[in-house]
Amino acid sequence: MIKNGSDHIAMLRDGREVYLDGKRVTDVTTHPAFRNSIRSYANLYDFQARPENAAKMTFQPDGVDRSVSRIWQLPTSYAELVERRQMLEAWSELHYGFMGRSPDHVASCISGMFMGIDVFEAADPARAGALRDYYRYARDNDLFLTYVIVNPQANQSKTAHEQEDKYLAVGIVDQDAEGITVRGAKMLATSGIMANEVFCSCIQPLREGDEMYALSFAVPMNTRGLKVMSRKSYEANATSVFDNPLASRYDENDAVLYFDDVKVPWERIFVAGDIGLCARQFHATPAHVYQNYQCQVRLMVKLRFLVGLALKITEINGTNGFPQVREMLGQLCAEAGMVEAFVCGMEAKGRVVNGYYVPDRSMLYGSQVLTQQLYAKVLNSLRELAGGGMIMLPSSIEDFANPMLVQIIEKTQKSPACSSEDRVKFFKLAWDAVGSEFASRHNQYEMFYAGATFVTKGHAYRTYDWASASGLVDQMLGSYSLRDELAALPRAA
Ligand SMILES: Cc1cc2nc3c(=O)[nH]c(=O)nc-3n(C[C@H](O)[C@H](O)[C@H](O)COP(=O)(O)OP(=O)(O)OC[C@H]3O[C@@H](n4cnc5c(N)ncnc54)[C@H](O)[C@@H]3O)c2cc1C
Repeated sequence: MIKNGSDHIAMLRDGREVYLDGKRVTDVTTHPAFRNSIRSYANLYDFQARPENAAKMTFQPDGVDRSVSRIWQLPTSYAELVERRQMLEAWSELHYGFMGRSPDHVASCISGMFMGIDVFEAADPARAGALRDYYRYARDNDLFLTYVIVNPQANQSKTAHEQEDKYLAVGIVDQDAEGITVRGAKMLATSGIMANEVFCSCIQPLREGDEMYALSFAVPMNTRGLKVMSRKSYEANATSVFDNPLASRYDENDAVLYFDDVKVPWERIFVAGDIGLCARQFHATPAHVYQNYQCQVRLMVKLRFLVGLALKITEINGTNGFPQVREMLGQLCAEAGMVEAFVCGMEAKGRVVNGYYVPDRSMLYGSQVLTQQLYAKVLNSLRELAGGGMIMLPSSIEDFANPMLVQIIEKTQKSPACSSEDRVKFFKLAWDAVGSEFASRHNQYEMFYAGATFVTKGHAYRTYDWASASGLVDQMLGSYSLRDELAALPRAA
């Protein structure tokens, strides 16, 4: 049977060591800081388990006697890539693009690594074997994986081993026949509290002397010694869905992970001490492209949703007929359309590598660079369209329990398009998408989830088709010359 929502919720009752507000959380699935968001993830699994969605959401891998989630599919053609994307899109629509680290994200990364298994084989067949087995295990059990691939900020001008504390970032303490022991922290595990397992590695450049941080492994979230420190929960403070329709249900959470001498068995270790392989696992395999392609598919859906909010703001305020407002909406349509075009473009311009169909890298990184800048701009456009409407709101649903206040709400919340109640309902949603603490975290997320802009611009620079660009310039320069022009000048008698 394909995994459903109840299966996923049951899997999270595993004794994981999660801390919030100074206390240990005994059951994340019932805790008011996490339960609704966990339910939102469970909804994804329920959706894929519905018989009527089977064709869209699942596929049958070669050599497996049942269907599994398409998040683990390894496309070999353009058509298969598009089929898989339609599945990712359907999931994104269920959370409106607000759950950045939904299970399809890290599944895309691990699938991409599996597509590039030769890279691991060339370095160490034993580690390649571990990765191959892990991919199949995660796929067949439809595991929800999160990842931690960035070290905590400290002194950014120093490399990992130069930090004051040698075990600030996760590093090897010891190793024996069974595996390695690791100690230290990773910056953030988005959705970690809601996932089954964590893939821990380092995507940041490592230098000579950093070998102990060149790691790549996966462990269950309830592994002994793994401490999970939740950031402030927006869900906990969003006690009413009507007041905070997004924060109350889609707060995927971000948590610092501390590995307190965690023992990792060799069968879960894909890189141990090899700086070159640690970088190549992302960039010499399709992993980095696949994981970030998933992000662009999700963002495409999110922008579609935000553009829908923009239109509704103008309809509710009766401003949609003003030419300047239409112009702003047109700009937003173009921006959302650009991301959709990038997704279609990176698919169409993809190519077969090692037997697998991989989206175009240059287009992907181009899209990432531009969307890191675009997201804040889109939010700002919504602010501009909305004016004070997102603030001129009853403090909470409690106001609707007071008949006198209801009368005032009805008198003051006016719209040519809807009732007072619907106006309040809509603008509470708009604020949660644009201006609440939840919304603000999303702005930070879209700016940084794939690295700071100097990193993504570096990828764009590295993968651009410079030969073609320079070739055009050379062709132009070759089409004329000073000597020819001088020779053609009329000679003085
Ligand atoms: C909401 C959120 C969720 C996240 N979720 C995850 C997750 O699930 N898993 C995970 O592994 N990571 C996650 N991250 C971490 C994310 O990958 C990092 O934030 C990102 O890689 C940037 O690294 P940093 O935060 O250390 O910023 P830095 O690298 O310190 O960059 C911050 C700024 O410092 C300057 N700067 C720093 N170094 C340089 C340099 N060498 N050259 C020029 N300028 C420089 C730039 O101005 C840059 O914008 C998340 C981050 C956020 C904000």
